[in-house]
Amino acid sequence: MIGFEKSPAKQLIARLAGRNMGQNMGRNMGQILADTLLPRLCPDCRAPLAGAGLCGRCWSGLQAIAEPLCHCCGRGLPHQLPDNLCLACHLNPPPLGRIRAGYLYNDASRRLILAFKHGDRLDLGPVIAQLLAASFARLAEPGMLVLPIPLHRTRYFKRRYNQSAELARLLCASPAGQGVRPAPGLLRRLRATRQMGGLGQAARQCNVKNAFALSRPLVAGQPVLLIDDVMTTGATLHEAARILKKAGAGQVDALVFARVG
Ligand SMILES: [Zn+2]
Ligand SMILES: [Zn+2]
Repeated sequence: MIGFEKSPAKQLIARLAGRNMGQNMGRNMGQILADTLLPRLCPDCRAPLAGAGLCGRCWSGLQAIAEPLCHCCGRGLPHQLPDNLCLACHLNPPPLGRIRAGYLYNDASRRLILAFKHGDRLDLGPVIAQLLAASFARLAEPGMLVLPIPLHRTRYFKRRYNQSAELARLLCASPAGQGVRPAPGLLRRLRATRQMGGLGQAARQCNVKNAFALSRPLVAGQPVLLIDDVMTTGATLHEAARILKKAGAGQVDALVFARVG
């Protein structure tokens, strides 16, 4: 079980009790009161929890991507290869330096992502950011620009938040984010692209072609880290990296919560 933030309701009860009783004893009493009145629930399936985090069932459903993996696109490999590159990256190197995904896109990660993205479940942001913290720490470097993949404004107004921007914000605020430079508005989406579900790789590439622009110039050689929730074929990340490189970016890396395959 991993530690996550307390719910806003619990924080409020703990704070109110702490204010009335004063000092640490009051805060501790407030926490006990909060835990008694509002038992912890798994943020995914809502099963009661003894501690903080996801319940064992939801947690064990997530399939972390670990070595051996392609050091370029981050795809899991059946065994270690001498150059650590998959065949696809050999034949057609992507415009990104390193793509890393925390987890495979399976039932468990899809449920979390869909609820976070379409279910108005902003409370899942800290859970997902915590699950991705170790991968972020391996990529983040001081001075790196951290850019979420943007939504087009029509989709943004419908959803009211951009899940990738929320994830980037939480990761940059984590201890591993020290020294990185969050730049949430730098990459803009110029047009509303079709939903990509059901599209093949070529159609996806075509769909996102010229979909992005930068709102200000880049310093030449600037390292960039893109953040997104899910990667399917990589078409969106590749197109964003292409625009960034054209504007003078140095290495462009990407971190996603889950990847398909
Ligand atoms: Zn659960
Ligand atoms: Zn690869």
